[in-house]
Amino acid sequence: MLILDGKQVARARFERLKVKIFDFKAKYSMTPGLAVILVGENPASKVYVHNKTKTCNELGMSSTQINLPATISQQDLNARIAELNADRSIHGILVQLPLPKHLSEHKILDEILARKDADGLHIENQGLLWAGRPRIIPCTPNAVMAILEHYQISVASKRAVVIGRSQIVGKPMASLLLSRDASVSICHSKTKDLLAYTRSAELVIVAAGQARFLGREAFAKGAVVVDVGIHRPTSGDFANKLCGDVRFEELENWVSAATPVPGGVGPMTIQMLMENTFRLAELSLAESK
Ligand code: NAP
Repeated sequence: MLILDGKQVARARFERLKVKIFDFKAKYSMTPGLAVILVGENPASKVYVHNKTKTCNELGMSSTQINLPATISQQDLNARIAELNADRSIHGILVQLPLPKHLSEHKILDEILARKDADGLHIENQGLLWAGRPRIIPCTPNAVMAILEHYQISVASKRAVVIGRSQIVGKPMASLLLSRDASVSICHSKTKDLLAYTRSAELVIVAAGQARFLGREAFAKGAVVVDVGIHRPTSGDFANKLCGDVRFEELENWVSAATPVPGGVGPMTIQMLMENTFRLAELSLAESK
């Protein structure tokens, strides 16, 4: 079984991006900038935000972290986003999800200017993706495509199954696979006989958010399996360890290729965020000319 090593792919892309950013700054005297908004004190979100701003700085881009209280009103959060929309030194804006329950995620994501939408979750960018004219692509599905491309795994004409239909992973994932000529089925919690889909698929992208719920029995021999899930269970064999939606250790000598967790899609997702930020800076420059 070929292990699809997202960490290694991310490292190679990181070095290439660093050079591009260096050249861009030298040529245009402009530093790509990302603003990350963190609402509340979710410990996992804090770690993600820290990693995003750190990676941004390591690449030579600027990063601004804005911490807001969990009690902030929708109006006040919108006002903060409006300030960032108007700030010419900020090219990408990201609101770390999930948000506290009293805030509407989609309303807030749509407050970000579509041309500063680092996560690709603005309704305009989602629409462009489905229309086959992608501008900014959501980071996680884009990470999956980049891993497959790196390992020269073609999806064209393949039977692909995506498990999950969220705006952030499942739906854009299906759209990207379709745009590369895969025949795509989207499965979700109401799908009857999930295994009938997965067992007949040549490529399965698992993004159900259910820790270790699929093993060897779910996949056809020789299939390619990409595990998007990230969990840190509090009990059981994997207590306090990172694991995915798939029981990776069962896949050896059965599937042809698979992503591990950790070290698969996760490290590539952050890299794709960095690439989106750089792309937004390039777009901003092109518009100002
Ligand atoms: P989500 O919003 O909770 O969506 C989960 C999707 O899976 C839903 O569409 C749900 O169906 C479906 N589902 C749940 N249980 C299922 C089952 N037993 N069988 C079939 N489908 C099922 O989660 P998400 O934001 O898309 O994230 C999915 C996973 O990826 C999570 O573990 C998350 O932590 C991880 N993630 C990882 C990265 C990364 O960088 N690697 C980034 C983002 C997310 P319904 O629509 O019917 O409810």
